[in-house]
Order: sequence, then structure tokens, then C-alpha cells
Amino acid sequence: MDNQAMSERSLRHVWHPCTQMKQHASQAVPLVPVSHAEGVWLYDFDGHRYLDGISSWWVNLFGHNHPAIRAALVDQLGRLDHVMLAGFTHQPVVELSEQLAALTGLGHAFYGSDGASATEIALKMSAHYWRNTGRPGKCRFVGLAGGYHGETVGALAVTDIAIFREAYAPLVRLAATVPSPDARTAQPGESAADVAQRAAGALEAWLAEHHHETAALIVEPLVQCAAGMAMHDAGYLRRVRTLCDRYEVHLIADEIATGFGRTGTMFAHQQAGIRPDFICLSKGLTGGTLPLSAVLTTDTVYDAFYDDETARGFLHSHSYTGNPLACRAALATLALFSGNDVLAHNVVLAQTLDQAFASLTGHARIRHARRLGMIWAWDVDTVLPHFAQRYHQHAMAQGVLLRPIGHTIYAMPPYVMDEESAAHLAHGALAALQATLAEEERHHG
Ligand SMILES: *Cc1c(COP(=O)(O)O)cnc(C)c1O
Repeated sequence: MDNQAMSERSLRHVWHPCTQMKQHASQAVPLVPVSHAEGVWLYDFDGHRYLDGISSWWVNLFGHNHPAIRAALVDQLGRLDHVMLAGFTHQPVVELSEQLAALTGLGHAFYGSDGASATEIALKMSAHYWRNTGRPGKCRFVGLAGGYHGETVGALAVTDIAIFREAYAPLVRLAATVPSPDARTAQPGESAADVAQRAAGALEAWLAEHHHETAALIVEPLVQCAAGMAMHDAGYLRRVRTLCDRYEVHLIADEIATGFGRTGTMFAHQQAGIRPDFICLSKGLTGGTLPLSAVLTTDTVYDAFYDDETARGFLHSHSYTGNPLACRAALATLALFSGNDVLAHNVVLAQTLDQAFASLTGHARIRHARRLGMIWAWDVDTVLPHFAQRYHQHAMAQGVLLRPIGHTIYAMPPYVMDEESAAHLAHGALAALQATLAEEERHHG
């Protein structure tokens, strides 16, 4: 089986996500069949390898085929594959919930399979909390401009990305949107902290008017990843916590992309020293091996559901809630954090990558070069149509997987890069930019 044959079979029967399938019909945008992966490398059927510079859509932390995670999964397969979690429990889900409680200070974990289902769970739990506490009118939500929280119909209500939402507008009960604290929107003379204060002021004005009908504010702490790695000052989260307390509105921290060390701390909200009412986790939770999501919440929320009456309970479920294999993968991932000083290692690794990326960062067509933890982003000054797609193609030709969002190139590599792979990634990222800009020149010449 080679790339060509596998692509043809795939295109006949697999409907690929986030894809206009017709674009694969021409060889302009070839599908990439992956036969196996090891560490930071993906291998296709024709023997090419690609450095996974975006951790396979932000899920991978310690490289592919990690021996410790694989061993845990093999062991778990020999014990218990799956059992329903209603009326039953098992060691992996108990231990994982204990560890997540210790890591976050939020002592109750509810499980789903994907990030979007975690969003659904948090929204439903918040509104149901207010209903159970005698305030059923608090059932609307507010999010940030450019926010992304998943694409199921409920999650789309708080996802402010037009292309994902437009076709489904009639299905969605839209949440309110307040300005993003995106530091790139600074006016001349304004700092990131000033932008944060300005955005918090807009939230305050909105809450003052609408808090009676508002259940929760949902935010991606420190980095709005899908918005193009829009980063903001931690002071925003402190102001938000104060405002949510004052106006009795839950604060949901969507750490699906930012969790597990990605921003430099285990969870991004910890950089602001705040405690959210809900934390959504997924993506890195299993080290990128199996789908699993979790919503963590407080005793206060939990207690509001604890009652003699069944209907006051949280009667939400998914068939694979708390799947033992996925929980074991998560435990093996957390063990890699506790057995190694991953956050300190990443500080040093990030410096190596900063140096490797210096030519890209200093390129004349780059605006707003930025980094937080293990997330790098560069906005490109370009008018080339389909820039993101063209850049991605050129990067693949260089043996690196990078997929810009709009005009923003970003890297979110696994935490196991070495000097050689850092150099390969940085070289590929710069060469792809040069090739894309050369194409732009031909396009306009
Ligand atoms: C990816 C993502 C989601 C959705 O997760 P899925 O597993 O893709 O449904 C939600 N919120 C944030 C911040 C994300 O980055």
C-alpha cells in the first residue's frame, strides 16, 4: 500500500473533518496517509517523515508511541476494557479523579469523550446549578470575541468563529460576546495589561446589565488558540474572577488546549492565581492517545445537585463516560509529569526553540511574534489567497507539519524535542514562509 492507493480508498469512504472534500480531488491539496508515528515524527506510506509541529491538533505532549503510556494501555487492556460508569466504578477513574482534584483544587470530576462534550457538560451544569438554587432565569452564557469551545450545537453557542457557525445559525441559541483581551489590539502606548483592563471594563458593563439572566462566562485562559493564538495578560483573569464573584456568574475555564503545561504552568489560569468554578480538560489529558474529557467543579456546585430528588441530579451521560483505557492513558501521562520536572525542562527547551526560530521571528514580513510556554505564533503580512493552505503545503514539502490559522503561523510542538528536531522544525518553518512569499510574488508579478 502506498500513499496514492491509501488516499484513494480514504476519499471514497472517509468524510474528513474540517475539510472541503472537493479540495482533495485535485492533487493540489493531497491527503497525507500516515502509516506509523514515533516520538515527534509522523511517517507516510511512501517513507517520508514529517515533524509534528502542532502536536496533532494540540493533543500530543510527550511524542507518539510513548513507551510508558503504551505499557499502561497494554496492561489495562488485560484487566478491564470498559464498564458503564453509572452504578459502577473502577480504579483508573477513581485515581484520575483524585489526581485531578489534587492538581486543581476542584474536587468533583465528570467525564466525556471530547472537548466539545466537556463544554456541553459545563454549560448544562452551570445552568442547572442556578435552577437548583432557585434562580432558573440565570440560563444564558457569555464568551469572548473569537472564542472557541467546540462545534456541537450547544458548544457552537459560545464559539465565536463565523466559518464554523454560519451554516448552523438557526440551530444555535447564541451566547453574548464581549471584547477579547487579545494583546495585539493594543492602541499606541497601550500595554497588554491596559488592553486587559479595557476588555474587563467591557465585561463589567455587560454583566452589570445582564447578570440576572447569566449563568456563566466561558474563557480560554491566557491563549485563545483557535482565534490564532491570541494571547492576553493574566490580569484579565483576575479582574474576571472578581467580576464573576460580584455578579454571581460562574467562571468556566476552558483549558482544553491550554492545560497540561502548554502555557508554562500546569494549567493556564494558575498564572493568574485564581480558582475557576469549572475547568474543562481534554486534548493533552491522555497525552494524545485516546479521546477523553473531564469537567472539574467545586463542592458548592456539586452540593446543589446532591438531593433526595432524582431530577435535581446531573442526569447527563455518554456511553463511554470514564472509559478505563482512556483514564489509564491519562494516569500514565500525569505520571510523566510527576516523575520528571516537565515544566522546568520546557523552560530550557523553549529557549532552544526561541533561538532556532530567531530568523523567522526577525523576518521582515512577521508581525506580533509571540510565545507563551510551548506555544509560538507569528502573524504574516501577506495578501496571498489561501495563505494557510499554501504555507501548510510548503511546510509538508520541508518535512514539517504546520497548519497556519488565517495569516498566523504557529508551532505547538510536543515536549520531547531535541536540538536536531528543533533545528529541523525552525528551518522548515522559515523555508515554508520563503516559499509561500515567493509564490505570492509570482501571483502578483
Ligand atoms: C479543541 C478545543 C475544544 C474542542 O475539543 P474537541 O475535542 O475538538 O471537541 C474546545 N475548547 C478549546 C479551547 C479547544 O481548543
